[in-house]
Amino acid sequence: MSNKIGIHALVWVGGWSEREARHAISSSAAAGYDLIELAAIQPELFDADLTARLLAEHGLSAGVSLGLDDTTDVSSDDPDIVAAGRKRLDLALDLVRDVGGDYLGGVIFGKLGRYTTPLTERGRAHSVETIARLADRAAESGITLGLEFCNRYETNVLNTTEQTLAFIAETGRDNVVAHLDTYHMNIEETSFREPVLAAAAAGKLGYVHVGESHRGQLGTGSVPWAEFFEALHEVDYRGTITFESFSSEVVHPTLSSALSIWRNLWTDGMDLATGARAFLKQNYETR
Ligand code: MN
Repeated sequence: MSNKIGIHALVWVGGWSEREARHAISSSAAAGYDLIELAAIQPELFDADLTARLLAEHGLSAGVSLGLDDTTDVSSDDPDIVAAGRKRLDLALDLVRDVGGDYLGGVIFGKLGRYTTPLTERGRAHSVETIARLADRAAESGITLGLEFCNRYETNVLNTTEQTLAFIAETGRDNVVAHLDTYHMNIEETSFREPVLAAAAAGKLGYVHVGESHRGQLGTGSVPWAEFFEALHEVDYRGTITFESFSSEVVHPTLSSALSIWRNLWTDGMDLATGARAFLKQNYETR
């Protein structure tokens, strides 16, 4: 099995002070993960040099993800908001490069959060153009962009794999891939196998988030894991698989609310992380 297995930083910490960075990176390694996904909602708050040093010390890779907000929504009709979003994405891209990463993903094509109106044609054009432009900058550093489609309550731009593949084709860039997340798929897709096959057939299955239906521990909700893992094996997926889970126990100043994390689904990050790691080993890696 050659997949890198990752874990989202919010299992450990809501910020990225030196103490938090040290705790998150050392704990990820101790729990048996290969990669930590940094939540770079505000990329300027990250110390890239410190992060790179800690990653090297613990033999860990890093991915970076973020969701844009109302003031940086690149799918907005307002050119000033789009420009602010592009500036933030450029900073996030610099962070990926400076920590030695090769992946920037998440809701980088629009706002992460509830919309009360549909996407406009103008907003969609802004979003496509933003991703195409960012992909060209990313290519200079060997970085891939992942578009993480989300359920309808968290974006009005991309809700399914099919929409994401069409959007990627519109950007016309080779280093843009689809980022599939089981939590969102469980709400919007009609199956867990077909989207995996479709993304792989397009050569665009680039990154995977494994998240349970309630965002808690894997195997304790309603995601049909056997179907999903079978499909990943069927297409011989070799990319990163990152465990994502959120609880009111670990709160990020904006991300936790954007994701509607109102309940406590676990209290001990290490228990959660080692449990999820064992679940992946048993149900995906050694089957
Ligand atoms: Mn996700």
